[in-house]
Amino acid sequence: MHIDARTLDPGTLIEGDLCIIGAGAAGISMAMDWTASGRKVILLEGGGFNVEAQMQALYHGESLDRPYYPLRSATLHYFGGTTGHWSGFCSPLDPIDFEKRDWVPHSGWPITRPQLDPFYARANQYLELGPYEYDPAYWEKHDADVRRLPLDSRTFYPKMWQFSPPTRMGTVYRDPILKAPNIHLYTYARVVEIVPTEAVTAIDSLRAMTIDGKVHRVRARQYVLACGAIHNARLLLASNRRATRGLGNDHDLVGRYFMEHFEVIAAQVAFEKPHPFKLYTFPAAGRVRARAELALMGDVQRQHRILNGTAAFYGGPLTGKEQSRFASFSADAEANVKQRQAPRTSTGSSPPPPQVVYRMFTRQEQAPNPESRIVLSAEKDELGMPRADLRWRFTPLDKRSIRVFYELLGREMGRAGLGRVQLMDWLVDGDDAWPDHLSGGWHHMGTTRMHEDPKQGVVDADCKVHGIANLFVAGAAVYPTGGAVNPTLTLVAVALRLSDHLRTKVA
Ligand SMILES: Cc1cc2nc3c(=O)[nH]c(=O)nc-3n(C[C@H](O)[C@H](O)[C@H](O)COP(=O)(O)OP(=O)(O)OC[C@H]3O[C@@H](n4cnc5c(N)ncnc54)[C@H](O)[C@@H]3O)c2cc1C
Repeated sequence: MHIDARTLDPGTLIEGDLCIIGAGAAGISMAMDWTASGRKVILLEGGGFNVEAQMQALYHGESLDRPYYPLRSATLHYFGGTTGHWSGFCSPLDPIDFEKRDWVPHSGWPITRPQLDPFYARANQYLELGPYEYDPAYWEKHDADVRRLPLDSRTFYPKMWQFSPPTRMGTVYRDPILKAPNIHLYTYARVVEIVPTEAVTAIDSLRAMTIDGKVHRVRARQYVLACGAIHNARLLLASNRRATRGLGNDHDLVGRYFMEHFEVIAAQVAFEKPHPFKLYTFPAAGRVRARAELALMGDVQRQHRILNGTAAFYGGPLTGKEQSRFASFSADAEANVKQRQAPRTSTGSSPPPPQVVYRMFTRQEQAPNPESRIVLSAEKDELGMPRADLRWRFTPLDKRSIRVFYELLGREMGRAGLGRVQLMDWLVDGDDAWPDHLSGGWHHMGTTRMHEDPKQGVVDADCKVHGIANLFVAGAAVYPTGGAVNPTLTLVAVALRLSDHLRTKVA
């Protein structure tokens, strides 16, 4: 069922059992999971069904430290959320990503990979991926040409990825949501304040505002905040009339520990002779697309006290003209969406001819850092909400980990007689020097981190905001650490786990 909130009388009271704020990857997966529940689910989406400049302008914010993508277009403010943009790269976090690592301050999830596995399998389906199989042996069985590089398997392994079509959640799940009698989707219902009870121990209601200034009130038994990591933090911090530091922010944690993935060309690999490369490109198994990247075994990360990272082979040698995507990604979200949704000219399923020289594309974990954060701006948006600014800050461990990865790869390539690795100059230039061509993956994580101790995390292991009885957070905002894989598969899995938990609350 769909209602455009602009058509309602001002001051309308909307009531239900469960209220999900934000219809992106997390919010839509949860709503889909409740279609047969018989419970009244209110799904509040700030935007409409299409990307609009006026709505994206509400996302404008400044990058106060490091360069970053223009915030007004780095995430999307309409039904389907940022999946209107995404590329569909998916892989689960590794078991080590969930562990408390003594060399990574603030690391450690209160849940383990085996606990998340059943939800990963369900998330794989929502994102239209293949079987829940990320063991390279499974893919090698399918095709005799799929062979791994002969590197020491105690050091490096092929980390498998699958590629979603990519699923545009707002297109694929629009009909099922609109047809579900118990899901009440309100578009243009932008939540501008979460209103707690006087004692700030539970949520009383929400204030939702339309772009033309009508204010409605929303009441439910349980609330889930699913606006993406930047805007989840923004909404909690801006809901500060009763909780003066912001909701869930008694310990000054909301907005802190913002994490991205470092995406950067870091080295060049020259093989002595061409090798079969199909595993590292896109082997086709029916409509399923998958490929491997090089990754370090958990024990090796442990031994060298480094973060998790992967390396993908990009065709051709270094040219000296590597470019950051920060500058080339347009502030005009509509233009980016058109460009990214244009039909593909190639299926990407046939491997390129074997080469001997490759540029290495790194995707690496960022260490959790309290100084890397989302903060409220003094400036307000058109609906009177303080804007969110970004202070993206790094630690020496971030860069050292990339350097050690390639030093180990160089050693291993030499030992196996495969060839040589040349590190780019910036990688050996000290732990603070980063190159102009550094990019991020548009992966926003960590701003409402999960920890059992309210002094160390905003939400508990069930994604419930500490100290507030009926407020939960869905999305990569809850990650204590972000591993080296793109976040969406995991955030859908964590949202589905939350969905199961809420069934016990909204019986
Ligand atoms: C160019 C690009 C490529 C990407 N590629 C990949 C990839 O290959 N693999 C991968 O894993 N990830 C990728 N991502 C990241 C991926 O898109 C996000 O991880 C994912 O969409 C986040 O899901 P979410 O539900 O948390 O947030 P979103 O998808 O951003 O959804 C949030 C929703 O909340 C709504 N909202 C926000 N504020 C309010 C409010 N106050 N009131 C009501 N509604 C509100 C928004 O309109 C939106 O619908 C990419 C992102 C970009 C930009």
